[in-house]
Amino acid sequence: MADQVLAAVRTGPSRTELREFPMPAIPADGALLKVEVAGICGTDVKMYAHPVIEAPVIMGHENVGVIVEAGPQFVARQGLREGDRVFVEHYVACYRCEWCRLGEYRHCELTDWRTNPDARRYGYTSCENPYHLWGGFAQYMYLPWNAVLHRVPDNVSDEEAGIVTPLSNGIEWALYDCGVGFMSTVVIQGPGQQGLSQVVACKQAGASLIIVTGTARDAARLELAMMLGADHVVDVQNEDALARVLEITGGKGVDVVLDCTAGAGAAPVLLGIDALKRRAGTLLVQGELAAFPDFPLKKLTEKAITIKSARGHGYRAVELAIAQLASKRFPLHLLTTHEYGLKDVDTAIRAVGGEVGDGVIHVSLLPWQE
Ligand SMILES: [Zn+2]
Ligand SMILES: [Zn+2]
Repeated sequence: MADQVLAAVRTGPSRTELREFPMPAIPADGALLKVEVAGICGTDVKMYAHPVIEAPVIMGHENVGVIVEAGPQFVARQGLREGDRVFVEHYVACYRCEWCRLGEYRHCELTDWRTNPDARRYGYTSCENPYHLWGGFAQYMYLPWNAVLHRVPDNVSDEEAGIVTPLSNGIEWALYDCGVGFMSTVVIQGPGQQGLSQVVACKQAGASLIIVTGTARDAARLELAMMLGADHVVDVQNEDALARVLEITGGKGVDVVLDCTAGAGAAPVLLGIDALKRRAGTLLVQGELAAFPDFPLKKLTEKAITIKSARGHGYRAVELAIAQLASKRFPLHLLTTHEYGLKDVDTAIRAVGGEVGDGVIHVSLLPWQE
């Protein structure tokens, strides 16, 4: 094996440098992952432009690869060995707290970079920490004893496995958080990789009506939404979205509204509140806006609306997302539109942000591609 590892390091806002790190010496309770694919999502766009920490970071938090070296304790503890292909959750778990006991590693303090300066989370933790390789935009990644890993079946390609994160978010948010199930009616706002993954989760769960909204430049994505099982699509720039939802539902509104937009301000939440049924609908919100001036709290409580927060996924949702991919029931490979190598990390993130490239939905970073 090489003695140096090539990685793309974020050194400041919107700045990437290729650096070499010494190959780490793997301890008895650790392992080394050869990274095959690192998926890029909207969070990377934000974290790249406005880093949350100043220290250098190897980004890449949706990672798939093959274990190429594993210490004996790691093998005993994880039940995984050299040659196994795995999806790596970006959360690194303590395995002792109440959340870890439930498989809700996303809530563990060990991985919460907001409250814990020494947190471990792939794509967020500084490469100045021991073992350095804490992100997927690198040829190899270090796996400690407490990495959260999922085996990837042989019939799921590396690129498809790169969609595990948005798909598990889809399952977590739509099914577990918002209760989408048999005969549910749903509006999904935003037809990016996250919105399209919600379409699949809702369809599989039995939703009877799926309406997807987007903008004029989302035409191709809205078409894909129909191919994945949406019943109606709405262009919010050229149509009155609320009027369309009410027309489609015979004036009733829908059970659940899922906000999967980026950079759309307050509009998706305001539309969501109006598009929900008369009573007891559920609204999934993102946390993009720090504050919400003139929030229509009265209308929200009068309609008895429940608000849920979009916040990652638990272990169970990831296992189901992988099973969904392996079932081949939906043409999810159509989401994987663009691939870039390590030297093009900057371009790859900009492509996800809509600055470059045509028809971008999901972008795969392939560290071994030239
Ligand atoms: Zn992500
Ligand atoms: Zn924990």
